[in-house]
Order: sequence, then C-alpha cells, then structure tokens
Amino acid sequence: MENLKKRIEQIKNKRPGYGEILDFYQKVKEAQDKVKTSLKIDPIYLKEDWKELLAKEGFSLLQKQDFSIDVKASVALFETLCQIAKAANPHMAGQVRIIKEVIDNKRIDLKKLLKEGVGEQKIEKIADESGLDKKVFSFLIQNSAKPSIEAGMEQLRGELDPETWLKGYCPMCGSLPSLSLLKEEVGKRYLFCSHCGYQWRIDRLFCPFCENNDQESLHYFYGEGEETHRIDFCDKCHQYIKTIDYRNLQESDPILEDLATLHLDILAIQKGYKRPVPNPWTT
Ligand SMILES: [Zn+2]
Ligand SMILES: [Zn+2]
Repeated sequence: MENLKKRIEQIKNKRPGYGEILDFYQKVKEAQDKVKTSLKIDPIYLKEDWKELLAKEGFSLLQKQDFSIDVKASVALFETLCQIAKAANPHMAGQVRIIKEVIDNKRIDLKKLLKEGVGEQKIEKIADESGLDKKVFSFLIQNSAKPSIEAGMEQLRGELDPETWLKGYCPMCGSLPSLSLLKEEVGKRYLFCSHCGYQWRIDRLFCPFCENNDQESLHYFYGEGEETHRIDFCDKCHQYIKTIDYRNLQESDPILEDLATLHLDILAIQKGYKRPVPNPWTT
C-alpha cells in the first residue's frame, strides 16, 4: 500500500487532472486489501482431466463462475464500496442510492448474485431489468467479489506455467486481457487478465483479440513525452490493448497505471480503434 500511495503522489504531481480518480482508486484498494486478510474461501476442485483439456483443447483451468466467493466478506465490502462511491461524485452518489433501493426492495438478491459468480452479461441483464447504470452497478459487484477471485487465482497459480500458454485469453479463467505488460530488459511480453489478474506470456507481435501476428498490420504509439505507456493496435480487427512498459518503470500496480493514462485511450479511440475490455473505472 505504501508503494501505491507513493506512485499515486508521483502521478498526481505530473498530471494533477487524475487526482480525483486516483484518490478514489486508493480508497477502493484499501478496502479490498482489508478484506483480504480475513477471507474464507472454499477450495476449488479441478476437473480430473483438466491437464489434458488445457493442453489439447486450449480450455482454461476454470470458468468465471467456478471461483469460490466469500459471500459474507463480499457483501460487507459492497457496503463499504457504496460509501466510497457516494462520496466520490454526485453521479455515483445518485446511482448508489438507486441501487440500494432496488436491493432493499428485494428486487435484487445481492448474496445470490455474488455467490453465483459475476459474469458481465448477467450483471448487465439485471441492471437493464432494474433500470440501473450498468457501469456503476457492474463496478460495485465486480470489485466486491474481486478479493475472493484473486485469492482463488493465487490458490491455483502453481497449476499453470505462465510462460507456455501463449494464447490471447487467460489460462486460469478464459477471460480476455485488459492490459499487456513488457518486462525485463529483453522485453518479454505478458497479458494481464481482466477478471482474475493472472499474467501469462505472449509473443511480442501478436493481437490477443484476433490472433493476428503479421507485423505489417500491428503497430504501436507511445504517449507524448512518455516511454512507459503505449497503445498496441491491430489493423486487422481495429482493436487495441494498452501496454505498460516496465523496462523503464519501477514495478507498480497495472490497474493504477491504466487509470493514470486514460488520455492514451482517448487518442486510440480518436484514431478509430476499439478497446474490447473497457476500463471499468471510467464511470
Ligand atoms: Zn483470468
Ligand atoms: Zn487484431
């Protein structure tokens, strides 16, 4: 947490405009870290033939709904996140009020929703039915379950080899990556799972979304005056992924680095590219 705070101060000095969103992020992270110390997670049992399925069929180890969720801790965290969101800005405050009303009127069973696993489609459907802002609702639900999901991922980390999977989706849970990371002097490239946070190796020239590896149609640009954050885009599927270049940056939280470079997303979108896994914090 100390390193996170330091990095947030550093970014705020350079780009004061990010102050509000980074302060919000810090509060959410603090609440999530607190929950992590007392989490009770049931062990996740793997299918007997998982090794075979993984190697031959390219199936991920789990599916999103297979993660064990500590429902009690997640509900408590949901309450805390609602308080933090309320204080963040008027739009969120208004949304939190509506969400709370819907839950209090038992139109949504929060416990059941958290327990059954929190796929985006399901959350969107419920938000639609109850007239909620999808992004705010999804943000609150996903971030309430996140400590459990990350703990599950840590529990199974030893089952996988991050260096050999080389596919565009997460070997742990099958989700798409939200970011790509360049590491070590040689610039090994990794993808960062948008759901469970697992990281796995990928080729330097590869679009995770359409598996394009033709160098003529894969390009990137760095932010102005920056050599640590860039946009890797693909002219075949017209989608992009943000890359954090840790060769010139001290180890830090990828999600924070993503949040602090939303200006790069704006540039990429202006150039006509789409981000398949949107930044969940931009509500
Ligand atoms: Zn994953
Ligand atoms: Zn592509």
